[in-house]
Amino acid sequence: MRSKSIVGVLFAAILALSGCTGSRGASGEPSGDQGHLFSDSLVIDTSNGKSVTAFSALDTVIGMTVYGAESENAIRDAADLIDRMDKVISTQREDSELRYLNESGNAICSEELMEAVSRGQMIGRETEGAFNIALYPVVEAWGFFSKDYRIPEAEEIEKLLMLARPEDAQKKELPSKEWSNGDEGSSVEKGIVYETEGMKIDLGGIGKGFIADKIAQMFNEDYAEGVTGAVISLGGNILCMGKKPEGKPFKVGLQDPDKGVGEYLAVITADSSSEGDLTPFSIVTSGNYERFFEVDGVKYTHIIDPETGYPVENGLASVTVTSDDSALADALTTALFVMGYDKAVEFWRSGTYDFEMALIDENGKLYLTEGLKDQVKSYVQTEVITR
Ligand code: FAD
Ligand code: MG
Repeated sequence: MRSKSIVGVLFAAILALSGCTGSRGASGEPSGDQGHLFSDSLVIDTSNGKSVTAFSALDTVIGMTVYGAESENAIRDAADLIDRMDKVISTQREDSELRYLNESGNAICSEELMEAVSRGQMIGRETEGAFNIALYPVVEAWGFFSKDYRIPEAEEIEKLLMLARPEDAQKKELPSKEWSNGDEGSSVEKGIVYETEGMKIDLGGIGKGFIADKIAQMFNEDYAEGVTGAVISLGGNILCMGKKPEGKPFKVGLQDPDKGVGEYLAVITADSSSEGDLTPFSIVTSGNYERFFEVDGVKYTHIIDPETGYPVENGLASVTVTSDDSALADALTTALFVMGYDKAVEFWRSGTYDFEMALIDENGKLYLTEGLKDQVKSYVQTEVITR
């Protein structure tokens, strides 16, 4: 078996295209120390009116380039927000809220966890199940969490698919901790109860976008004056806000699925540079070349078709979605991948959501929806998808 993980592909792209001199930080794992901020361990390069950092978290490479007088504080706050959100929505951290919910089947939850689960459920409904946040047991059986990859028996997959019912994660009022400790004063709190025993939620297909949206919101609330532009890369999930000091928009490279890290087949200009504000613009990519394993020449990718329980194999090599809503873009990359070319085009045409997409097939051909046409410089055979 062979496994391959491309981290920081698009971060590298950003650094190259924006002419940044990225300093690779050495933050290591979140410390978890009480009273100790995650950002305390960050190495930040501050020069030429911008701050740049890179570190690993969420099992990927995080890169940030922020411009403006308060860029360093903004980077620290963004890194701490990532660490805080990791403790809420990660399934792999022992101390995370979602891990506790998955293990106990019911728990009082933070607003953020309730919100992330609700968004996942909603996008699941709108994509007719192509996006499914309850696939955890199936993804786990294939070894994508432990990285101990295996091909499960058909019977096992069938059984685990019965647990993949996102609507069975229901919002409920639960006895508050104080109440269960004997203090009846504060009665109930909001939480989630799993109506199917053994079900588990996985926010891996939406979580990075969800976090990117929180960062965009925080920058707009706290740094509208002190930050003029930012590029935040969470693995294949890129959030651009504002513009570069010369007033130029950010550019993001689209990785060529067949080539080495940082080799692009197209460049997308971010539509985030309206004068004086930090309008977010997200470019999210999901590729079958990022996380997969191979057995006897067959490639098994980490995106699972919720109908079959098997890794998706439909001729697409990567799906990129652009939107001002990063959680939506993240979830849609996964859903459109599951749908395949024809259904993805149909879904875009339906107008259910406002987004644009770039699909790359296994022959290296690029398909762009018409809204992206003028924003993309392509170096390969390209076809435009019209309404
Ligand atoms: P996408 O391509 O957008 O989605 C694929 C992922 O979504 C799969 O990996 C699977 O988890 C899930 N999925 C598969 N099929 C579907 C489907 N049909 N519908 C919905 N979801 C589907 N990984 C670790 O190994 N260790 C960690 O400590 C870790 N911590 C994380 C913490 C956070 C807060 C988040 C958000 C993720 C974390 N991850 C961790 C996961 C990792 O960073 C990636 O998010 C994940 O592997 C998928 O990345 P992607 O961008 O390729 O996802
Ligand atoms: Mg996704």
